[in-house]
Amino acid sequence: MQIKLSNPIQSDSIVDGEGIRTVVWTQGCVHRCPGCHNPETWSFEEGTIVSVEDVIKQIGSLKHQDGVTFSGGEPMSQVSAVTEIAKFCKKNGLNVWCYTGYTFEELWFISFEYEKLRECMKYIDILVDGRYNEEEKSLDLIFRGSRNQRIINMKASLKKGSPVLVGKYNKKNKQKKEKLFVYE
Ligand code: SF4
Repeated sequence: MQIKLSNPIQSDSIVDGEGIRTVVWTQGCVHRCPGCHNPETWSFEEGTIVSVEDVIKQIGSLKHQDGVTFSGGEPMSQVSAVTEIAKFCKKNGLNVWCYTGYTFEELWFISFEYEKLRECMKYIDILVDGRYNEEEKSLDLIFRGSRNQRIINMKASLKKGSPVLVGKYNKKNKQKKEKLFVYE
């Protein structure tokens, strides 16, 4: 299986979710949000094709990472590859965050028709959802660019069938020092 990346795997990020994270940058995005910071990731023709096995090997070789974040681009356009990598992460004690331009509700409804997506959603701990909205941009937000985007606890949301927000990160807040999540 292969995945198309916009950039090499990045380790030691502290801005793409809680803790020290490895970021998988996917290529290709259908949303084309005005003001997007990564318009070079929109094209599905560009980017670098890499085997999922290689991505997993790279992630497995890294030290001192708390988790993996899928960002883009639109990771949900490469659901099978994201699922395989996320499965590996969960088996190896790494939590999984995923940025998407879709809302939770959109993914939830699509997932009834698209079993692979439903499977993928099970391996994501935290979903940062929604298109970037320039009019709702705020520099006070943590881990998201615009106020409409939400930081969602996926396990609780899948159980409930509607988004359960991670309260502290969805407020206009300051960086918190304490650990906010318990991952399973
Ligand atoms: S969803 Fe993200 S990557 Fe895609 S256009 Fe919007 S901000 Fe850019």
